[in-house]
Amino acid sequence: MKRLFAFFLLGMRAVFLHPIRQLFTPPDRKGKAGFLRSYAPEALVPATVQDRADLVRFTGCVNCGLCDAVCPLVAKLPPSEWRGPSLFALAYSRASPELPHLRGPVALLDLCGTCTRCRDICPRGVPLLDIFAFTRRKLAQVDAVRADASAPAAPPQDEADAPAAAPGFTA
Ligand code: SF4
Ligand code: SF4
Repeated sequence: MKRLFAFFLLGMRAVFLHPIRQLFTPPDRKGKAGFLRSYAPEALVPATVQDRADLVRFTGCVNCGLCDAVCPLVAKLPPSEWRGPSLFALAYSRASPELPHLRGPVALLDLCGTCTRCRDICPRGVPLLDIFAFTRRKLAQVDAVRADASAPAAPPQDEADAPAAAPGFTA
């Protein structure tokens, strides 16, 4: 009986309460805009079909360290921040990395130039340069979404159309 009552409550919520609540929810708090507003502070952004396919390709690292041994940038940051290119490969082989924490190493990658040593030596064929490009792109996306989410809401149209107040005037 309790179970039936629980199903009844769930049904009421799905059929009546949720649609009614949606009617009174502002557009920027529902759908994709609402998702971004909620999850952008945690650096979570939507993944496209292509992103998901790429993430599968990024998972082959076995932590052999060969790529770090040949990278000329290894000494450029403290080891706690950057052990070498395997930092990225390992991060994606275990989970999705915390993108903002990779900001320092991502900036360092600007110095790679035309070097491809890490990718060429990898015995697992991990596409390191693709991983770098992907991480850069996603970090830029996180920053853009966070900036949008923290921007003040646009004023109502009649306020936006009103003439600007004279300098020094306060209501
Ligand atoms: S060489 Fe390849 S498998 Fe080895 S640590 Fe680097 S990315 Fe991982
Ligand atoms: S491509 Fe960049 S990260 Fe890879 S070995 Fe060269 S300098 Fe290091």
